[in-house]
Amino acid sequence: MADTSELIEFRRAFVWLLCGMLLPSVALVAFGVVAVANERAAVERRLTEEYSSRLQSLQRELMARLDRAVDAAVRREPDPLVASVAPLSRPPPGLEDAVRRVAAMPPAAHVFASTEAQGDRQAWALARTPEKMLAIQFDLPAVVAMIPALGQQRFPRERADFRLVPPREGGLAAQVKRIVAEAGSTTAVARIALGAPLDGFALAAELPGDDPAAALAFRNRSLYILLLVLLYVGIGVGFGLTIREMRRAYKLSRLKTDFVANISHELRTPLTSVRLFAETLREGRAESPEEVRECVELLSSESERLSNLVEKLLSWSRLESGRQMLQQEKTEVPALLEEIGEAYKAQQLPATYQTELEKDLPPVNVDRDAMAQVVLNLLHNAVKYTGDEKRIRLRARRAGRSVAIEVEDNGPGVRQQDRKRIFERFYRADDLLSRKTEGTGLGLAISKKIVEAHGGRIEVDSRLGVGSTFRIVLPAA
Ligand code: ADP
Repeated sequence: MADTSELIEFRRAFVWLLCGMLLPSVALVAFGVVAVANERAAVERRLTEEYSSRLQSLQRELMARLDRAVDAAVRREPDPLVASVAPLSRPPPGLEDAVRRVAAMPPAAHVFASTEAQGDRQAWALARTPEKMLAIQFDLPAVVAMIPALGQQRFPRERADFRLVPPREGGLAAQVKRIVAEAGSTTAVARIALGAPLDGFALAAELPGDDPAAALAFRNRSLYILLLVLLYVGIGVGFGLTIREMRRAYKLSRLKTDFVANISHELRTPLTSVRLFAETLREGRAESPEEVRECVELLSSESERLSNLVEKLLSWSRLESGRQMLQQEKTEVPALLEEIGEAYKAQQLPATYQTELEKDLPPVNVDRDAMAQVVLNLLHNAVKYTGDEKRIRLRARRAGRSVAIEVEDNGPGVRQQDRKRIFERFYRADDLLSRKTEGTGLGLAISKKIVEAHGGRIEVDSRLGVGSTFRIVLPAA
């Protein structure tokens, strides 16, 4: 039951994860697709806005330059933009209004105007000096030719060409076109119409190529797609990691549930025996002194089993919480094995073991009690998991610059897939033998923790049906 509800919890968490991550990311992708589709229009708009503001600044520059040309003409100095300067005796047709305006102005002022004579546009400035009025005609082809240079000077690193686009009609347009003959094909991205004296003209910004927005849009689109791919890879990796963690948590919780069931079973069996023997004694069913002694002995061994079990649990909880402090001391290996032998004998287990001790082993730096607990646990397992004919060996030998203590048995062996996992807490191999044998799945986990706290390692070699060798490798002191 517990398993099923945990599984449901796990699935629910998974669905939440799916909704919490997948749905927003789908929305994000949809948003990205729309953004990609609109990207081109956005790029075009951005280009137009950007270049319009540059053209406005260029227009201000151009007008300032024309003002300077007028000032030069008034001072009788030559200026490349000025075609002619003449006293304004008879205003050319079309300039009457400009003449009236300049006449009403204070001396040293000027107005710009334009005329159209025989289909050609002419640009003028009418200037008032204290003595007379001057009609200054601008050299339009020179003005047109000056614009790219002005643009270059104003925006030195600019990719775009700036040019003055003449009105469509008339000979001047043809003349001007020759001057600004285009190199290769370009596309106008922004254009602003000019006022006097360049009415009808427009300032234009042109970018090379038939479709300058396309390259920019392509770059941005590729960037979007790349980021989307990265986003999905990130989500995928995160998803994978989360699922792995969730599966681990689920497995651990299952192991714990199994553990509680195991422990309850382990506690119940000796407790039942204790109760039965106590009842037998209380009701006087054990009649002879031998029977009474047998009962008492069984009572004592069962309660010892109980206290061993509780000790194991406490030991694990101490190790888990980091409360167990090791008291390491330089120890000779034979002395350690002797101590283990005595403890083993005291437990009166139904098997003995042979000891193989290599000569001149270096001492090891260990907490004697903790290390004895580890080796005894391996010996217990060897007894527990072997059949009737038990052949158990305790071996100590040199392994490079370390010392290896091995417990070899002729048990059923450990399956390949369990060899790592049996050292995990609460893990018991799911085979017939483990199911038949009492245990908590804590012994090897405790052993591993203790050995690693000594700077060593614990491992198992095993052949199914032949036996296992559990090996503790400890650095020499
Ligand atoms: P427990 O023996 O209490 O189950 P352990 O941590 O000592 O816990 O052992 C974990 C598992 O490793 C056992 O359940 C068993 O499946 C396997 N195992 C341990 N020692 C041996 C051995 N000598 N031979 C075969 N299998 C073993």
